[in-house]
Amino acid sequence: MKAALLVKHHAPLKIADITPLPLDFGQVLVRVLVSGICGAQLQEIRGEKKTGPLPHPLGHEGCGIVEKIGPGVTRVRGGDKVVMHWRNAAGIESDFPKYHYHGATITSGLVTTFAEQAICSENRLTPVPPDTDPTVAALLGCSVSTALATVESEARWGERVLVIGAGGLGLALLGAMEMVEPTRLVCCDLHEDKRIPAEVQGADFVNLAAAEKVTGPFDLVIDTAGAPETMETALEQLAPSGRYVMIGQPRPGQPVCVRNARHFFEGEGKTLRATQGGGFRPDRDIPRYLKLASSIVFHRMVTHVFPLEKINAALDLVTAGQAGRVMIECSPPQALQQAA
Ligand SMILES: [Zn+2]
Repeated sequence: MKAALLVKHHAPLKIADITPLPLDFGQVLVRVLVSGICGAQLQEIRGEKKTGPLPHPLGHEGCGIVEKIGPGVTRVRGGDKVVMHWRNAAGIESDFPKYHYHGATITSGLVTTFAEQAICSENRLTPVPPDTDPTVAALLGCSVSTALATVESEARWGERVLVIGAGGLGLALLGAMEMVEPTRLVCCDLHEDKRIPAEVQGADFVNLAAAEKVTGPFDLVIDTAGAPETMETALEQLAPSGRYVMIGQPRPGQPVCVRNARHFFEGEGKTLRATQGGGFRPDRDIPRYLKLASSIVFHRMVTHVFPLEKINAALDLVTAGQAGRVMIECSPPQALQQAA
């Protein structure tokens, strides 16, 4: 089966033929339907985030159909439609999945999605009803669930909110803000073509590249980009007792400068903190989020769809910052039609 492998850092992924090895305890073979591309994979490609030894399969947000279950698996059955996610759910955490590639054995992470099929650990899969839209299910693997969980855990009713970055995650956050009805919702990015998607999601858009400025105060800043310059500007726009929540992070070794530290002592003291996927717990949250996702307009965050063979063009688009969520169709169109 075909998979997009990270063979070398800073290089295009290689579309290669690999063969899944027999399933081990707690492992599940999934036919991947759709996958999203997340900033984490760009970090892996640039070697900024640890992966296993190369070559390495990638991807951590997807939807698929269970083809086969290994020994000990009880949470999913053959034929189940599943969300493939990087956060842990209940169930067994298996050993790292193994594949044959060019006469050698390679391993993957406990979930991968840039492939026609993937061996996943039972605890990285959560079943959803068979009529669930595969794209919506895939988005629940990371971006939409991170957005909903971050809003649930970090946002309060009726605040002034700034979301930094209008990529897939940023747009999902704007949509999720519906739950807490901000009195002011601003989104900034560096690309003018993000204006309309951000405005459609109910935000005032600020194009930082066009020298437009974000003007606070903001009670809550959610940063999906982690760009030091933007952080430095936005930190100064925090309201007394404001909270700055990082989902995106600066690259390793990149300094962030707080110019006026005194400013941090206003009010009750300001907060700068990082969140891991908003603390989202797939088995508990995905059934709830599925209902929310149908009432909140998330499909607008998907701007492009590419077939698996064109994944490098899709990655270039995400790297250039010119897209919302970019989806990869991992199985042939007939399989997708059957599963929709
Ligand atoms: Zn992700």
